[in-house]
Amino acid sequence: MKTPAKKTTRGCPICGKPPVEKYRPFCSKRCADVDLNRWLTGAYAIPVVADEDEDGEPPSEPTPG
Ligand SMILES: [Zn+2]
Repeated sequence: MKTPAKKTTRGCPICGKPPVEKYRPFCSKRCADVDLNRWLTGAYAIPVVADEDEDGEPPSEPTPG
């Protein structure tokens, strides 16, 4: 937690800069292309960071017997 960024506003997913209306949610066409390229190359990894709004219940262990 080193970035004092706002919680509701996210920056460019590529570089973190404030997004531009024209290229939202990216800050520039370059970053948009970078993201697109990731999709095309299939190397895009969807962030698994979900909103820790609720406490996820732990996986119920199978009861022996
Ligand atoms: Zn960017």
